[in-house]
Amino acid sequence: MKEKPEFIGARYGKKEKISNEKHLLKWSKEGMEPMEGEMEKTEEDIKMLNMLNDFIKDEMLSLGIKHYEPLPAEKVHILPQKIFEKHNPQSSKMGGSLAASFNPADDTLYINKGVSDSRALMLMSILHEALHRTSTMKFYADKKTIYNARIGYSLKSAWKKEGRQKKLSGFNELMVHYTTLKILLKNIKKLEKLGISKKDIKGVTTVYDQYYPILALITKKVSEDTGIPPDQVFANFEKGQFQKTILALKDIEKSFGRGSLKILSLLGEMKNPADNDKLAGMIELFFAEKNAGEREKIRKKIIDFSSQNRASQSD
Ligand SMILES: [Zn+2]
Repeated sequence: MKEKPEFIGARYGKKEKISNEKHLLKWSKEGMEPMEGEMEKTEEDIKMLNMLNDFIKDEMLSLGIKHYEPLPAEKVHILPQKIFEKHNPQSSKMGGSLAASFNPADDTLYINKGVSDSRALMLMSILHEALHRTSTMKFYADKKTIYNARIGYSLKSAWKKEGRQKKLSGFNELMVHYTTLKILLKNIKKLEKLGISKKDIKGVTTVYDQYYPILALITKKVSEDTGIPPDQVFANFEKGQFQKTILALKDIEKSFGRGSLKILSLLGEMKNPADNDKLAGMIELFFAEKNAGEREKIRKKIIDFSSQNRASQSD
């Protein structure tokens, strides 16, 4: 758990603040207790976790971020699929079970052994969730409980009764996934010692692969418009996940015009997977369009489509 968790969305009194922090600390400690049905970690698992902690620490340093709170092995729960799904009821609703999850409130990782069933998949799942854990987090508390209000690029405004919003969660997943790949490929020599090859890593397919052209188009145009090399543009977006302010996003609006962040924020927000695929295709067209007038036409189409098919915003 981050030493000083940040609460937003309301004015919190001193007592309230202390009580909120106490709750998070308590949940974080509980997250370290073994779970019923959890699989015991092998020596190799522990080795892998230590290695991943070193990788993340190095990556943060390369981005100029000095502090990294290592992930304790006790906070990684490897669970058989049935038990994972019991604890993640939303998992199987999305047409296929999740590979893993991270819960900001208890600062704990849950790995679905049924899906993360090879060494490469397990490694990617843990690193992906560990990067969510390393991302900037903000919370919102009311009388009932504590909600997650920001994690990396993903924002939720649970405190707004009207017009509750969830933003940029698709883009956040996209950034976490490509940060995961970047880190693993950078350290491939060390991974080969664990018997994991470049081919194993590249052979893993995820739902985020189809979003990649969007990230590539954005990176390319921002690089052309700013004169910053593409690798550095990516690194700036990467760093944004772990920073207090999301300044890197301003470059997107500068390159693609007002309203383009709203278009990006809709990625993955539709009710059903088929609509999400359709929307991702439209968003790709938007970011590929060079003519501002044509882009505006696509933007309007996307807004219309999304307002008809958007998921309920009550979560
Ligand atoms: Zn994720």
